[in-house]
Amino acid sequence: MSRFMDHFLYKDGVLHAEDVAIPEIADVVGTPFYVYSTATLTRHYRLFDEALDGLDHLVCYAMKANSNQAVLKLMASLGAGVDVVSGGEYRRAKAAGFSGDKIVFSGVGKTRDEMCLALEGGIRQFNVESEPEMVLLSRAAESLGVVAPITVRVNPDVDAKTHEKIATGKSENKFGIPIARAREVYALAASLPALEVVGIDVHIGSQLTSLEPYEQAYLKVAELTEALRADGHQIKRLDLGGGLGIPYERSNTAPPLPIEYGALVKRTLGHLDCEIEIEPGRLIAGNAGILVSEVIYVKSGEGRDFLILDAAMNDLIRPAMYGAYHDILPVIEADAGADMQPFDIVGPVCESGDTFTKNRLMPPVAPGALVVFRSAGAYGAVMASEYNTRPLVPEVLVHEHQFAVIRGRPTFDEIINRDTIPEWLEGSA
Ligand SMILES: *Cc1c(COP(=O)(O)O)cnc(C)c1O
Repeated sequence: MSRFMDHFLYKDGVLHAEDVAIPEIADVVGTPFYVYSTATLTRHYRLFDEALDGLDHLVCYAMKANSNQAVLKLMASLGAGVDVVSGGEYRRAKAAGFSGDKIVFSGVGKTRDEMCLALEGGIRQFNVESEPEMVLLSRAAESLGVVAPITVRVNPDVDAKTHEKIATGKSENKFGIPIARAREVYALAASLPALEVVGIDVHIGSQLTSLEPYEQAYLKVAELTEALRADGHQIKRLDLGGGLGIPYERSNTAPPLPIEYGALVKRTLGHLDCEIEIEPGRLIAGNAGILVSEVIYVKSGEGRDFLILDAAMNDLIRPAMYGAYHDILPVIEADAGADMQPFDIVGPVCESGDTFTKNRLMPPVAPGALVVFRSAGAYGAVMASEYNTRPLVPEVLVHEHQFAVIRGRPTFDEIINRDTIPEWLEGSA
C-alpha cells in the first residue's frame, strides 16, 4: 500500500473519488465543490487508533479541520472522540451523536456560556489554558452544582518548526501556561472547589513534519507528570494534542507516519500508566478531500500566462493566508509526453492575494476543463466565506460508488435575504 494512498486516482484517464468519476459529480453539483472520501477518512482514523494499540487511548478528532456533520457522524461511528474549540463545535459534536464523555473542550477563550453548555450537556474534560479561565470554570460548575474535569494545557516552549501562524508551543505564543509555572497553577486548580484535575494537555502546533519537537515536548510532559503526582495531583490522562503534518507537496515531503508517532508516544510516555488522548485533525481530513474547480479562462499576460479558475481564495484560503502549497491536477489525465507549461493559477476575486500559485507547470488545459486541488480536506471548507458574494462552497461525500451532497450551495436569494434593512432605510431610494 502506498504511503500516500488516498482514494483519488485516475481510472481510464479520468480522476475518480473512490469509484465515482469527478465529472459525474460536477454535472450534478456544479463547480467549485469539495469532495471527501469515506475510505480515506476511515483509513486515517484507523492509522492513529492502531498506532496507539496497546495503550489505553482515545483518538479525539479535532473537528476544526473539517466539521461537516457527515464527517463527524462517520468519526463517531468509528469510535472516535472529538476535540472542540467553541460552543458551536460542541453543538455540532452533540448533533452528530458524540456522547459528552467523548468530547474534549480546548481553546484559549472559552466563555462562561460555553462552559455551562458543556457542563450541562456532558464533557470528557476541559483543557484549561489560563488561571482566569480556571477560576471562571470553577464558578460556572459550582453554580450548576457539578464538578468540571480538567487538564491544564502546558506550553513546553519547544519550536515546532512549522509556519508561524500555526505554531503554538513556544513561550511567546498565546496558548497554555508556561510549563515552568505548571506546579503553581495545578496547586491553584486543586484549591478551587468545583474542579477535578484529571491530567495534562499539550499541543505544540500544526503541520509538523518532524517528530523531534514532539519528543522534546513529551519528555517534558513525562517529567511534569512525575512532579505533579509527587505534589499529590491525580494525573491519569495525557492529552497530547494533534499537529502531525501531511505531504502537501508529494514530490518532496515525507512527514512522519502515525505508526512512527505512536512509537514515540509509547517510548516517552508509555511507562506512566496514563490514558492517552490525541487530537489529530489535518492528518485525518487533509488528504481525504479535494477541491474541484473549472477553468474559466486561459489568459496570456506580460511574460506570464494565467489559468483563471471558478474557485477562489474565499473557497480555499490556505495559499493566500499561509502561502500554502497544493498539488493541482487536471481531472482528465494528461498524456505521458504532454508539453508542460508554467501558469499562475488564480481565482476571480478582486485581490492579488487571490493567487493559488505562481509558475506552476501544468499540462495543456482549455476553458471548461476541470482541475483539482489535492490535500484540501482540512482547513478548506471550514475556512470558506462568501466574499465577493460567491456562494459558500458545497461539500460532497463519496462512499465507494455512491456520492451525496453533504452541504449544498446556497442560492443567491438565501444569501441576500440573510441581510436585513433597518426600518429607517425602508422605503428610501
Ligand atoms: C488545531 C488543533 C488540533 C488539530 O491540529 P491538526 O494540525 O489539525 O492535527 C488539535 N488540538 C488543538 C488544541 C488544536 O487547536
